[in-house]
Amino acid sequence: MAEDADDETLKVAIVGAGPAGYYTAESLSTSGRPVEIDMLDRLPTPYGLIRFGVAPDHQSIKAVARRYEKTALKENVHFVGNVELGRDVTLDELMMLYDAVVICCGAGRDRPFTVPGADLKGVVGSAAFVGWYNSHPDFVDLDIDLGIHSAAVIGNGNVAVDVVRVLAKTPDEMAHSDIAPQAEERIAHAPLRDLWMFGRRGPREAKFTPKELGELGKLERCVPLVDPAQLPPPESDADLEPGRRKVMELLRRYAENRPEDKPVRLHIVFYARPVAVLGKDRAEKLRLERTRLDEEGRAVGTGEFFEIECGLVVPCIGYRSNPIPGLPYDERRGCFRNEGGRIRERLYVAGWARRGPTGTIGTNKPDGAEVAERLLREVEPAGRPGRTGLDRLLCERHVRIVRFRDWKKIEKVELERGAGIRPRVKFCYRDEMLRLAGHEPRPEARTIGNQEADTSTARETIS
Ligand SMILES: Cc1cc2nc3c(=O)[nH]c(=O)nc-3n(C[C@H](O)[C@H](O)[C@H](O)COP(=O)(O)OP(=O)(O)OC[C@H]3O[C@@H](n4cnc5c(N)ncnc54)[C@H](O)[C@@H]3O)c2cc1C
Repeated sequence: MAEDADDETLKVAIVGAGPAGYYTAESLSTSGRPVEIDMLDRLPTPYGLIRFGVAPDHQSIKAVARRYEKTALKENVHFVGNVELGRDVTLDELMMLYDAVVICCGAGRDRPFTVPGADLKGVVGSAAFVGWYNSHPDFVDLDIDLGIHSAAVIGNGNVAVDVVRVLAKTPDEMAHSDIAPQAEERIAHAPLRDLWMFGRRGPREAKFTPKELGELGKLERCVPLVDPAQLPPPESDADLEPGRRKVMELLRRYAENRPEDKPVRLHIVFYARPVAVLGKDRAEKLRLERTRLDEEGRAVGTGEFFEIECGLVVPCIGYRSNPIPGLPYDERRGCFRNEGGRIRERLYVAGWARRGPTGTIGTNKPDGAEVAERLLREVEPAGRPGRTGLDRLLCERHVRIVRFRDWKKIEKVELERGAGIRPRVKFCYRDEMLRLAGHEPRPEARTIGNQEADTSTARETIS
């Protein structure tokens, strides 16, 4: 093991090249200590949810990737794309190869939506739905039938607002976005008339922010509607902080809108929780129960039910990290068990994988910095092989690694395909991207630990 070793340099593997991974790498690489950082990602592309979560019409938010690129181009930071922990390399192997490992895998799986009928066609969790319109290779081939008049989104957070906005916008409004072409085509031809957004608690408890809610009032073909009876009297806004007060102002404004104002209606409904999706072979109706808040602010059922017609149900009810063999998992929070970002000796976690799916992109910065500082305090270099050892292992397994320079080749073509009109036209398929990175498709099986993995199918698994 010591043959390639450099005893002075700390070798760190970061698993996940999203915001948490990059902020951790930024702090480590600017610490003044000799550090070599390898950032693994299961996809051939960096930046995590900046590419696959943030809405395609919110390009200014995606611009944060430029900051990450500065870190990516540092001499001591290497992107190791298309390499998945648990598929191509095990945690034990990384722990042997590196002085420290930081898990920044995010929370890529939907929190289960468990009502009867949730398995019907037409019920699509937000991780999958957002991935579909954002060209995520796992979700690009989802067969989402939008030949429907009505769709329901469950949840009162910004992800729910993103989903209704993307469904509501016209092709002209999306013209400068990087939405996946196949999603754009289906949405453009969808005969939608009614969109619904349901929250089980009230307007004061809603999580959406004023900027995102405000955008719903400026849509070309869609009018947001609120039942005035669901809003508290304006005097009660006095105790709210300014952002929440703005949300209430917007909702009051929407309560004055008329359904006939625009061809598509967005019904923002509070105090309602879904209890079943109804339909024979696919979603046809959503059944809900009206709720009220109890003394502790929890939504409780009132026993009063109602139904709406809808052919698509998108639960935006939160996310969970995918469990990884060898890592302690907190079932309740849906993330990895840790204490202040430390899982055990030499093993750390940052971002959504540490905290669960809360906070904005910026929240991951102090998180990554804290973990980096702690790691630097607690771990000493021990002459482990780091990059050379990982490269050798992945080469033996015929894993097709995508380096940062390969990603730049992919990105160059994506930007060219935008033709100066769109910011980019993304590639959706791994093989297309691997070919641009100089790899030929190679479907042979290979070994991970004791398991046989067939690369041709493993790459298309939805996780
Ligand atoms: C739909 C949506 C919209 C959002 N919009 C905004 C917004 O507009 N503004 C804002 O501030 N915040 C937004 N957020 C929140 C923001 O995206 C998150 O705070 C942030 O992405 C979390 O960073 P992360 O690095 O922990 O996870 P992620 O961004 O999810 O990155 C995790 C990375 O790990 C990789 N990975 C996963 N498993 C493995 C594995 N086993 N092996 C190797 N790699 C792996 C993934 O491919 C991914 O690249 C949004 C979130 C969602 C879901």
